[in-house]
Amino acid sequence: MVIILKSDPDKNKVDNLRLWLEERGITAHETVGISKTIFGLVGDTGSIDIDALRALDIVEDVKRIQEPYKLANRKFHPDDTIIKIGDALIGGGNFTLIAGPCSVESEEQICAIAERVKASGAVLLRGGAFKPRTSPYSFQGLQEEGIRLLKKAREVSGLPIVSEITDSAQLPLFEDVDVIQVGARNMQNYELLRRLGKIDKPILLKRGLSATYEELIMSAEYIMSGGNQKVILCERGIRTFETYTRNTLDISAVPVLKKLTHLPVIADPSHATGSAELVIPVSKAAAAAGADGLIIEVHNDPANALCDGAQSIRCEDFEMLAGKLKTIAQCAK
Ligand code: PEP
Ligand code: MN
Repeated sequence: MVIILKSDPDKNKVDNLRLWLEERGITAHETVGISKTIFGLVGDTGSIDIDALRALDIVEDVKRIQEPYKLANRKFHPDDTIIKIGDALIGGGNFTLIAGPCSVESEEQICAIAERVKASGAVLLRGGAFKPRTSPYSFQGLQEEGIRLLKKAREVSGLPIVSEITDSAQLPLFEDVDVIQVGARNMQNYELLRRLGKIDKPILLKRGLSATYEELIMSAEYIMSGGNQKVILCERGIRTFETYTRNTLDISAVPVLKKLTHLPVIADPSHATGSAELVIPVSKAAAAAGADGLIIEVHNDPANALCDGAQSIRCEDFEMLAGKLKTIAQCAK
């Protein structure tokens, strides 16, 4: 349930209303907008008399919400959430490029790529250190050493870093990582999500391979209900009957998630397609659909990449693409 307050409501009356709700086990999450203040109620509102609430002189309107997610719901947080990471902004009309290799492989590799993608317009550097691979025999990432090298690349390039966590036991290693990624395979690892809800750090939450929009948003809700409101949603392709591409980018996810939630929504054309030549047109499509940004796998030597080389574009392709994407994103506004 959402309570929309009249503009400039009497502060004592607002406090009394909050207290009255709390006595009934309901928490009021306050959102102060430009012209209105909104209370998003979390708790069992079943016994609340809507008409009695509407009759209060500080209340403009009361709405019941059908959706099971409250904190991520745009209905009571109408303004876009904008997340600031160093100098980078995600959400609220900004178009943000995150780029870098699938995995951190060596200091030379990550530092060279960081400098190149930065020069082309990326504002965040991605690089996996803990890799959730389908086969236990595949390269699993450099792990702790990978995080160390990623930080080194941040030092050299000035770009904030994004890396994937696969288990909450790794959290101490991520203390100085700017954005923590939750991969598709962990989207419904609720214990991990709860732990990430307790920290003050942006979380890039990827859609599970067969997760619905509502399931993705409910996973965001797990993080947000713990107190951490800095969640970035990522459409990275879902599993369909098509086998030509690695996954199928669900382009509708971008406008739908932006309509249903106030969170930034980005797309990952690399894992969606699995093919470097498709990354370029699909990136353009996601930008045109209104994505708040993209996360793209870029490698300085894709043919010899230790992970996801086939879908990694070269630094020079990224440079060419980045210029075009800014124009497309501008037109999509
Ligand atoms: C990744 O970003 O390298 C990754 C493993 O992504 P996803 O979880 O979307 O498969
Ligand atoms: Mn990858």
